[in-house]
Amino acid sequence: MNVIVSPEEMKRFSQACRDSGKRIGLVATMGSLHEGHLSLARSSLSECDVTVVSVFVNPCQFCPGEDLEKYPRDMEKDRALLEKEGVDVLFAPDESEMYPGGYSTFVEVKGPVSEALCGASRPGHFSGVSTVVAKLFNITSPHISYFGRKDAQQAAVIIRMVRDLDIDVDIRVMPVVRESDGLAMSSRNNYLSEEERGRASVVYRALEKGRKMAVSGETKAGKILEKVKDVIMTEKGISIDYVEMVDSLEMTPLEKLETRALIAVAVRIGQTRLIDNVIIDAPNQGGKN
Ligand code: AMP
Repeated sequence: MNVIVSPEEMKRFSQACRDSGKRIGLVATMGSLHEGHLSLARSSLSECDVTVVSVFVNPCQFCPGEDLEKYPRDMEKDRALLEKEGVDVLFAPDESEMYPGGYSTFVEVKGPVSEALCGASRPGHFSGVSTVVAKLFNITSPHISYFGRKDAQQAAVIIRMVRDLDIDVDIRVMPVVRESDGLAMSSRNNYLSEEERGRASVVYRALEKGRKMAVSGETKAGKILEKVKDVIMTEKGISIDYVEMVDSLEMTPLEKLETRALIAVAVRIGQTRLIDNVIIDAPNQGGKN
């Protein structure tokens, strides 16, 4: 596996791949890799000639007071995991190369897609995400880039950015990889104490309850969301940031299940903020999850 730290070297590498007709897949990550990230890398490996995984803890997407300093980092472990998967390139740039002195350009996707849900609780977060992803696209020139549905709003923001800025990359949104009790894998799960970790699986149980109600014919968002909240509140020490039903691409709230929808949840367990979602098709769309 090639380990590249310099954006200039990464650009040259990608250009050489493109010149020889190779298709490049990019998986953008903040490291502390788990099966969720690796599933994206495997999708790229099966579909592309060259797979690039970036590991960069992007300071711009952390809001003031968030966990930038304590965000888990383990480059040696990440490197070994990616090497084992057969990833071609680990791109791990320094912050000073991504945001050199005088850096002042930011990409901002406006409207509910970035301002609803996590956008409301984490102002500036999605601008940081779209900025770094736009830079990573320019540096690595991928044909396809893989994102996890775990961060469904992030994927929607990137899809919008790519469409609006005519960026020539296909976006694939891949299923959520979960622990055996349903908890969505996340680097932030490392923050949970054993007791908190035990309680965290209630989020998935609540989402599944909501999904099952919808599949059984309930279309009123209010009823479904009330049930999801009730299930979450059966566990102590969990506070709800939001529980919403939104259109899966627009992130606008839905009163009735009429389009492909997400039931999206953000909670705090102790100091740790966790997000998760399930996707639901309206009954006339075939009820596919
Ligand atoms: P992160 O390192 O948290 O920025 O995530 C990098 C990419 O991995 C994003 O596209 C995430 O949506 C994706 N990802 C993170 N956790 C999971 C998961 N449990 N299942 C699938 N994809 C995930």
